[in-house]
Amino acid sequence: MGIRTGAQYIDKLNSMRPHVLIDGEVIRENIAEHPAFTNVTRTFATLFDMQHDPQHSEALTYALPQTGERVSTSFLIPRTVEDLERRRQATEVWAEYSHGFLGRTGDYLNSALTALAAAEHWFAQADPQFAQNIRNYYEYARDNDLLATHTLIPPQANRSVSGSEQLGGRLAARIVEEREDGIVISGARMLATIGPIADELLVFPSTVLRGTPEDAPYSYAFAIQNDAPGLRYLCRTSLHNGGSTFDEPLASRFEEMDAVVVFDNVFVPNERIFLLGHPELCNGFYSETGAAALMTGQVIARTISKSTFFLGLASEIAASIGIDGFQHVQESLTELIIDVEIGKALMRTAEVDAELNQFGMMQPKWEPLNAARNWYPKVAQRFPQIIRTLCASGLMALPGEADLASSEVGDIELYLQAKSLTGPERVKLFKLAHDASISGFASRQALYEYFFFGDPVRMAGALVNSYDVEPARRGIRDLLARHD
Ligand SMILES: Cc1cc2nc3c(=O)[nH]c(=O)nc-3n(C[C@H](O)[C@H](O)[C@H](O)COP(=O)(O)OP(=O)(O)OC[C@H]3O[C@@H](n4cnc5c(N)ncnc54)[C@H](O)[C@@H]3O)c2cc1C
Repeated sequence: MGIRTGAQYIDKLNSMRPHVLIDGEVIRENIAEHPAFTNVTRTFATLFDMQHDPQHSEALTYALPQTGERVSTSFLIPRTVEDLERRRQATEVWAEYSHGFLGRTGDYLNSALTALAAAEHWFAQADPQFAQNIRNYYEYARDNDLLATHTLIPPQANRSVSGSEQLGGRLAARIVEEREDGIVISGARMLATIGPIADELLVFPSTVLRGTPEDAPYSYAFAIQNDAPGLRYLCRTSLHNGGSTFDEPLASRFEEMDAVVVFDNVFVPNERIFLLGHPELCNGFYSETGAAALMTGQVIARTISKSTFFLGLASEIAASIGIDGFQHVQESLTELIIDVEIGKALMRTAEVDAELNQFGMMQPKWEPLNAARNWYPKVAQRFPQIIRTLCASGLMALPGEADLASSEVGDIELYLQAKSLTGPERVKLFKLAHDASISGFASRQALYEYFFFGDPVRMAGALVNSYDVEPARRGIRDLLARHD
């Protein structure tokens, strides 16, 4: 089939029979028509349509050598640095459409599947069938242009014990039965962003497994259809309050939804299992295959778009109300400029210093990507803070779109005008600032970026433990030993 259109994506979604709980209502069909999902599915549909648009198709797709069929560039196994650049440029096209606010565009998990398929021999260490399974699944996802979500971490009942020890092992999703034709999973995983509007769910390893017999039922990697019997999504309340694109310019377009994932005796057929047992392999699933590097490359490309959005927004606000000449405002703008340039520099270094990995995939250099993924979650917290500081009460003096058609529009035109904007223009700009800095949507975005790769505290520990500081330490010892 190759690349889908937006209409094909929505038709398939509406024909699926998932189990989605939201605000007390269970939805089993026509997901894309539910108010919590209509707008975001239309946004994702636009991304699918962009693949067919002559303006973007060259960047977003490539022709399969075997068939000539066009598929998403996010499935291109990079063999050269030029391939990596091509993958990044495709990510940039989609990221620029949402200004980085959509975290789960298809290219994120397609990147994971691409690296995993390139490393198929790694899976053969456990079982040659797993190697075949991951290759087949990658081709299935690529050829049908599927949208996947993923779920990794166990429920948060008690973090002082491992997932397998929570409630005597009855909370976290685990294998409850091994059958001739597959496995059965029960329990829960904490979250899946875009869960209700995806085609597929990837259930991959995440927390470190100890390799004890108790952890054996938690050692697996598999994929299932989003409407697999027994799979349930428990959604949070939507952060789009129903406002127009004027009143909620970001939430009305990019509210992705997060959902708890419950497995109630979910059957996983053998052909969708990529790992079973082998906790040591589960622990190296992302790093040893190169999946972490391709996924992080996608994320950093996206976050550059987001940093650029905040630089643009802050600059527009500063100019509009005449605060752009004040030193602390310029200091904030400088901070945003530096963030954009650091992101670009780390991305570029990762590409230029890429090397072929043992599976013949051109793998971006890990150290700059690892630095970026430890750096960005923290600087991203500053973005809304800067917008709030620049806007001040402007974020509250904010009538809605309907008020522009009221008898008081004259007040808005007179009293809400800005140095360089009419009253209505200023209201529109500050609505965007509101949705980017203090709305529920904005708070969720900040939380999302902070925990995107996991807990930053433990990530920092992992970075310290894995980074080669010996050359730096040697420099110090050499200096101390010098007698000049
Ligand atoms: C908006 C959003 C969307 C998400 N989407 C997805 C998704 O699509 N798929 C998915 O799999 N996950 C998703 N996640 C989950 C994300 O991976 C986790 O938030 C992240 O891994 C941190 O885990 P946690 O939330 O369980 O926090 P916890 O691990 O429970 O941490 C809570 C607090 O306790 C501290 N803490 C806990 N344990 C330790 C420890 N051992 N040592 C030191 N400090 C500790 C942490 O530092 C933190 O301050 C999403 C999260 C958010 C916020």
